[in-house]
Amino acid sequence: MCQQLPIDRIAVLSMYEVEGITSMPVPSRRCPACLERGQTVWVIPGKCCPECGTPVN
Ligand SMILES: [Zn+2]
Repeated sequence: MCQQLPIDRIAVLSMYEVEGITSMPVPSRRCPACLERGQTVWVIPGKCCPECGTPVN
């Protein structure tokens, strides 16, 4: 009988899934100026906030 539980397949799939998820999001920071105004604006470090133009490092 070759009835195996599909654990191996699931493990492999989730591994690739994690890889995809971790490589997708760009590391970003919240703009401190917008945060003071109660807005959460994510800015890529080294770029300027698209809302208020504050450089975020
Ligand atoms: Zn801002």
